[in-house]
Amino acid sequence: MLKEQNQHILVLDKGGIASGGSGAAGAFVSPKIGKGSVLQKLTNEAFAYAKDFYLDVCPMYFNQTGVVRVPKDKQDAMAFSTYEKYNENNYKVYSKETLHSLGIDSDFDSFYFPEAGSCDALGVCEYLLKDIEVLKYEVTHLSQQNGIWKVGDYKAKNIILATGHEHDLADLRYMGIRGTWGNRGDFSTHLDLKVSMHQSMSVGANHEGIIKLGATHEKEIKKAIPCSHAQASSLKQRASGLINTSDLELKKVFCGMRAGSKDYVPLLGKVIDVPYMLKTYPALTRGAKPALTYRENLYVFNGLGGRGFVFAPLLAKWLSDYIINNKELKSNVCADRLFLKWCRKGMK
Ligand SMILES: Cc1cc2nc3c(=O)[nH]c(=O)nc-3n(C[C@H](O)[C@H](O)[C@H](O)COP(=O)(O)OP(=O)(O)OC[C@H]3O[C@@H](n4cnc5c(N)ncnc54)[C@H](O)[C@@H]3O)c2cc1C
Repeated sequence: MLKEQNQHILVLDKGGIASGGSGAAGAFVSPKIGKGSVLQKLTNEAFAYAKDFYLDVCPMYFNQTGVVRVPKDKQDAMAFSTYEKYNENNYKVYSKETLHSLGIDSDFDSFYFPEAGSCDALGVCEYLLKDIEVLKYEVTHLSQQNGIWKVGDYKAKNIILATGHEHDLADLRYMGIRGTWGNRGDFSTHLDLKVSMHQSMSVGANHEGIIKLGATHEKEIKKAIPCSHAQASSLKQRASGLINTSDLELKKVFCGMRAGSKDYVPLLGKVIDVPYMLKTYPALTRGAKPALTYRENLYVFNGLGGRGFVFAPLLAKWLSDYIINNKELKSNVCADRLFLKWCRKGMK
């Protein structure tokens, strides 16, 4: 998005392209169901933008299989009727007969979102960066002189911190960024499965003899560890309640950290100068609401949680419009929303 606005961009990543959560993702791109929360509305707006974006920009890396959203149990199935009026994207209700004809083993009426699908995660990331300089480089320190940022030998006017669950390059504590570790697997199969589905886990359609199963949520893991075949294999057992898994064979395991925010909504915008604010306004901890002071030309793009491939295109557009064209950011994605409460709660 920045490149489209004629900006000169350098991407520094200590592990190379998609070495964080992005490379691990099943990269399903589908709407969110629910009762119209802020997060659901934002997700569905982002979904509508994302599927058009992928179809337009890199259709070869987007597999628009449609996604069936299957209730977890009887109670969940009853809630689906209350969710229906909040389905903002195209959908149909699939009966159990239709589900069975598609190879989905569920007797509950389900939502089918025909425009949803999944990306080839690495393919999309590499394609979007193909005309942009990317260096494998670990940033350990940011410094600024006369309005210019310095990172090692590199200089830039603006810096965007898009470092996922690692967030020690500036004081971002108020954003409450935390990681949720996940394993997923690619399984070979002859199963004729033409649609993808989500229930308590995701099952991809058969694409060139491979079905993606994902992903685990392992909150107790705080730092990246080697991928676990056992965790990925456990997904086959879980999927057996939805599809015929008899010939599924684990071929490749992926793992990584999803970075979520305190309120699960993404984090965009300027970075508040936390040390300055706390020193200048000690009454912040007692509920004072002074004007915010920011780190100059320092921005954040984070908190995409388990839906980075859904959120990223729209949020990248919003952030680039904000930086380049001064277009106001919506308050529900602006990271500022979490600062005052964090101060009031004793910086926790
Ligand atoms: C198992 C799993 C399944 C998922 N499934 C889906 C899905 O189906 N659909 C979906 O939309 N999303 C999914 N996601 C979520 C999606 O992958 C994330 O939302 C996305 O990765 C967020 O991208 P990001 O660029 O913010 O963070 P990341 O991809 O984590 O990238 C952060 C990058 O910052 C780099 N970095 C950090 N610190 C430094 C430093 N000091 N110097 C240099 N580089 C640094 C890291 O090397 C890393 O490459 C899944 C994630 C996981 C882990």
